[in-house]
Amino acid sequence: MEPTIRNILGWCIASLLISLGYVKRAKLRAMAGDFILSVYFHNPTLKEFEFCIKWLLKHKFQFLSLHDVEQLIIHKKPLPRSSVLITVDDGWALNKEAVVAIANKYKLPVGIFISTEPVEEGVFWWSYLDEARKSAFVSFSKEDLKEVPNKDRINIIDTLKHKIKIPRQALTVEQVKAIAQSPYVTIGGHTLTHPILPNCDYQQVYDELRLSKLKLESWIGKEVKYFAYPNGSYSSREIDMLADTNYTLAFTTEPHYLTAKRLENKYQLPRFEVYQGRTNIENICRMLGVYQPFKNSVLKTIELLTKPLSREKD
Ligand SMILES: [Zn+2]
Repeated sequence: MEPTIRNILGWCIASLLISLGYVKRAKLRAMAGDFILSVYFHNPTLKEFEFCIKWLLKHKFQFLSLHDVEQLIIHKKPLPRSSVLITVDDGWALNKEAVVAIANKYKLPVGIFISTEPVEEGVFWWSYLDEARKSAFVSFSKEDLKEVPNKDRINIIDTLKHKIKIPRQALTVEQVKAIAQSPYVTIGGHTLTHPILPNCDYQQVYDELRLSKLKLESWIGKEVKYFAYPNGSYSSREIDMLADTNYTLAFTTEPHYLTAKRLENKYQLPRFEVYQGRTNIENICRMLGVYQPFKNSVLKTIELLTKPLSREKD
């Protein structure tokens, strides 16, 4: 963890939340079975991931698999007390040495949602943009490309792929096959190319969902039933198509607890994000779902307080 201003601020917010009892109260609610903690990572280091797992174990959380959550929904069972679901997005190469190694060491279930094209080609599309921006090839950012039709994003990235070489970032096909053998790992779908699905046309969405599922299944020799929306972006069209392509659960990036009410929408299951490179206490507050709502309410208050000022300026 780097001692950046951002991390120092994050540490201060997390310390405040802990001292004001936010974490304790969230833990008590989890113990009462009010909700399942639904937590997701991208590319944590072994140290970061193990810290989070050890903290959850120390506080007596029980780990649910994606299958367990599906069974709760199917059988309308009450939520288990002090429970947590851990998922990981994208399929980063380090996942094998960090996430999967820890899952095997502590014998705990994790779900890993994998985009297949980066696994086949080695690199996630936004990395080409980041690299091109460093060399001033392009002026637009990843956020800009999230706003354009998918075919335009593909054209731009295809051009950059020919100009830029980036070392492998994603798991290899062989590694995906190997980690899928662990009894603690469930592989889920995360599309072929990691597009912003609502920017795709109908056929593109269908291919992204169906072909990635078939590809993963052919690699691991198991059914792939669970899905996470790239960038957390989706519309009712994607929900309908997930059902048509035989996915049974889908996860968003909306930061909410997984309550009985939220389990009723099985293609819109929320998750709290835990970031790599942040302080451990910030990540505890993130896992417990207290960091993001607090930060959002502070930002909202600042916006409300500064709104009259900006209007006056006009
Ligand atoms: Zn992703």
